Amino acid sequence: MPIYEYVCNSCGKKFSQLVLSLEDKQDIRCPHCGSEDVKRVFSPFGSLGASSGSGGSCTSFG
Ligand SMILES: [Zn+2]
Repeated sequence: MPIYEYVCNSCGKKFSQLVLSLEDKQDIRCPHCGSEDVKRVFSPFGSLGASSGSGGSCTSFG
């Protein structure tokens, strides 16, 4: 079963949510604060050379 990671926009904490169906939108809430303002994030594992705009990793040049 697919488990996706979500990050809460309210408290900024990450949590994993089991997604049963991609078609139907589930009521995903943050287990920490209960906010529904969450967004799905991709796990750093398994993503090779993925270029995403907003990332948490800091890259230094030079
Ligand atoms: Zn939260």
